[in-house]
Amino acid sequence: MIEIIPDREGQVLRKGDGDKSAPMVCDKKSTAGSVSQRACVFCGSRVVLYPISDALHVVHGPVGCAAYTWDIRGSLSSGAQINRNSFSTDLREMDVIYGGEKKLTAALRQLIDRYHPNAAFVYSTCIVGVIGDDVEAVCRTVAAEKGIPVIPVHSEGFKGTKKDGYRAACEAVATLLGTGSTEGIKPHSINILGDFNLAGETWIIRDYYERMGIQVVTCITGDAKIEDIRRAHGAKLNLVQCSGSMTHLAKMMEEKYGIPYKRASYFGIEDMSAALYDTAKFFSDDPTIMERAQNLVREEVGKIYPQLQAYREELQGKKAAIYVGGSFKAFSLVRALRLIGMQTAVVGSQTGGKEDYEQLAEICDPGTIIVDDSNPLELAKFVLEKDVDLFIGGVKERPIAYKLGVAFCDHNHERKEPLAGYLGMLNFAKEVYSSVMSPVWQFVPRRRLQHQHSAFVTTPVKKQHPVDPCTQTLEEK
Ligand code: SF4
Repeated sequence: MIEIIPDREGQVLRKGDGDKSAPMVCDKKSTAGSVSQRACVFCGSRVVLYPISDALHVVHGPVGCAAYTWDIRGSLSSGAQINRNSFSTDLREMDVIYGGEKKLTAALRQLIDRYHPNAAFVYSTCIVGVIGDDVEAVCRTVAAEKGIPVIPVHSEGFKGTKKDGYRAACEAVATLLGTGSTEGIKPHSINILGDFNLAGETWIIRDYYERMGIQVVTCITGDAKIEDIRRAHGAKLNLVQCSGSMTHLAKMMEEKYGIPYKRASYFGIEDMSAALYDTAKFFSDDPTIMERAQNLVREEVGKIYPQLQAYREELQGKKAAIYVGGSFKAFSLVRALRLIGMQTAVVGSQTGGKEDYEQLAEICDPGTIIVDDSNPLELAKFVLEKDVDLFIGGVKERPIAYKLGVAFCDHNHERKEPLAGYLGMLNFAKEVYSSVMSPVWQFVPRRRLQHQHSAFVTTPVKKQHPVDPCTQTLEEK
């Protein structure tokens, strides 16, 4: 029997339980003792800035902070890969007593000479906040000496939630904006904000926009290069995908450079198409952009639709639990699951806001559990209660799913297959199908007991075997 901690009861909503007027309690610090799935402020900054691949990322703190976030995202780069290293000043007891500024200065000098980065980010961790090192002064000195931007990231782990880390990362990026030339930027140009090119998504999206005749100045931060970020203020529109991490930067750019921003999601057929059409509408002075968008959507959907239908037939009626970092991602996932015949029984996020949860409640089916800033025990409780067939989450949710004998789909940092765009939707359906229909789940003790006398164990093995319906021959069918 797993109980919800009384202080957290307002952060769990059951759609249609008669108290729809009660707004979700969210956007607050985690409850003590809850063992939140959230990461610290430093980790929040690190995941946002990590994909900037030609910059040096130096973690000023104990080596554990650096190890914890080493290669945290699988972000692909079309050039340099300095970001794949994890550099730390390895602060110890003596540095805590006498200060770590000298060590930081020496580390920056040595690393810049060895790796020749185009900029350096210096992350402050908890202990740096406690001992009060003047990281800004060190950065200023080294920047003047080496002639590259050396940017302090105010990400002391204890000073808030992961969301505060996103904010610190946005403020660090903002120091680069406006320092490069905008020459060659066309009137129909955009920046993609909040895609991290985990498995090549940025390249897929970039290709769509370029086929529509729109120039992509930069993506912040997927496959980003310092020179491109410096000229991002020349774009005419910002498209924000990961709203939790990038809305702050979009607002700063709107205020300082007058660049409007729109939210966009590149996951699922509906949201991907809406993102392209919305952008085309923004550039309505050139009607050929909309025409090209329509042709692109028709062509790409036509390529994948028959295969999606085949997966839908097999997955019809299966249930899923979703737990992700930002809530915007959850909207797209609910819609994408519906497209392949699946129902969302549990949905939650680490950093959603009140409006996000209201919108989630609107699109979910009655009975869906909606949860903010959950913990492993609660998630396990919901998975068991709803008896879901699939859990979609990140690295911290994977063991919960596997321990309970539930299929898992990684929708976070570690995945190797792109899930964005039309190709991504097909990859998603394929992955969900192979995981949910795997015969391995019948051997999980919980499921075996549950289905001991049910049709599950008497179903012919052939039917349970995950033969991909899209690659099956007619004879196999
Ligand atoms: S910054 Fe603080 S909370 Fe974050 S990993 Fe380091 S010690 Fe832990």
